[in-house]
Amino acid sequence: MATDSKRNKNRCSFCGRSEDEVGFLITGMNGFICDSCATQAYEIVQDALGRNKQGAAAKLNLAELPKPQAIKAFLDQYVIGQDDAKRYLSVSVYNHYKRLLQQDKGDDVEIEKSNIIMVGSTGTGKTLLARTIAKLLHVPFTIVDATVLTEAGYVGEDIESILTRLLQVADYNVAEAERGIVFIDEIDKIARKGDNPSITRDVSGEGVQQGLLKLLEGSVVNVPPQGGRKHPEQKMIPVNTKNILFICGGAFDGIEKKIAQRLNAHVVGYNAVRHAATIDKNNLMQYIAPQDLKAFGLIPEIIGRLPVLTYLNPLDRTALRAILTEPKNSIIKQYVKLFEMDGVKLTFEEAVYEYVVDKAIEYKLGARGLRSIVETIMMDAMFEVPSEQKDSLVVTLDYAKQQLEKANVARLQNA
Ligand code: ADP
Repeated sequence: MATDSKRNKNRCSFCGRSEDEVGFLITGMNGFICDSCATQAYEIVQDALGRNKQGAAAKLNLAELPKPQAIKAFLDQYVIGQDDAKRYLSVSVYNHYKRLLQQDKGDDVEIEKSNIIMVGSTGTGKTLLARTIAKLLHVPFTIVDATVLTEAGYVGEDIESILTRLLQVADYNVAEAERGIVFIDEIDKIARKGDNPSITRDVSGEGVQQGLLKLLEGSVVNVPPQGGRKHPEQKMIPVNTKNILFICGGAFDGIEKKIAQRLNAHVVGYNAVRHAATIDKNNLMQYIAPQDLKAFGLIPEIIGRLPVLTYLNPLDRTALRAILTEPKNSIIKQYVKLFEMDGVKLTFEEAVYEYVVDKAIEYKLGARGLRSIVETIMMDAMFEVPSEQKDSLVVTLDYAKQQLEKANVARLQNA
């Protein structure tokens, strides 16, 4: 009788225990699984995924990776101009992959990484380039802001917190994070004030640079998993930065003066006149050299660890006009899409584009201002059109002017 009742009981199809012997049974199509087997199965799955993740980078295959020209072609779809920066970035990212692949093979010729520094006025596309390249990457990628960093012991975030973000995007898979790419924005903000080492403590300057140097060089760094400041109770995760590619960006406001000084200093003597004639004074950024970064206040050790130096051009009228309509997700295309979702075909008179660019230049708003100007012009229409029975809307020059004049344009200048 006992055996009978035992036979009639539902059992876990994995461990064979009956429902009395386990917490509970989950019923499937042709069997059961008990709570403890389900937990074990979950752990096995997690392990397997973890292993796969670690193996993901190892499985990088050069044949599948976008070649530098393909990377640049991709960037071209989203970023206007900035050819030099695009080429440098494309090559560096491609080399980063090659280095990872070569290390997997255990080759004895060690390819050293070449961290990058991009110099260009604010709003010329540095972050956009970084973000766009991230879309294409097969490794963890994150953007961090250097302005929040301060030397250990001061208010602000510890340098190691740069790597917290990378760990987070890699789901705390350390091996994966150790092959990632970090974009450090506003690197110029940690420059030493002035060319001379300061006598007083320079909280935001040299100390931070020294700390950053450790990361750029490649060392094992203890990273606070939740970021922010280190505190004794927090368990640290050691991360080796040897294979992490760092891309730095900064506006370096006023660096043109340093470039001009250097160029002028060289323009003496026999070749002076000819040399001076070939210098394009309107875009001195293109002549940037490592010594200008030093004059700006980066310590030579940091500059040495950022061997690839490239620049972004200031955006001229033609570039601003192109930014408005040409990129794959250009501002105008985004508005057309927004209206399309309400069943409205939105079009602009050609003259509106010129007008928007004129205003962006007039108010010195740059590329960032283009969006705020178009937003101001479109605000009323976006409020009204969805409730109206319209199937098309043409934005004329008169309408654009009227909308922008109605709004307080001065407000945009703080954008
Ligand atoms: P930076 O990082 O150099 O200060 P961003 O990359 O953040 O500037 O640019 C700000 C915005 O201006 C971007 O979101 C983009 O809409 C636009 N923009 C700037 N430069 C370009 C460019 N070269 N091509 C296309 N859009 C650009």
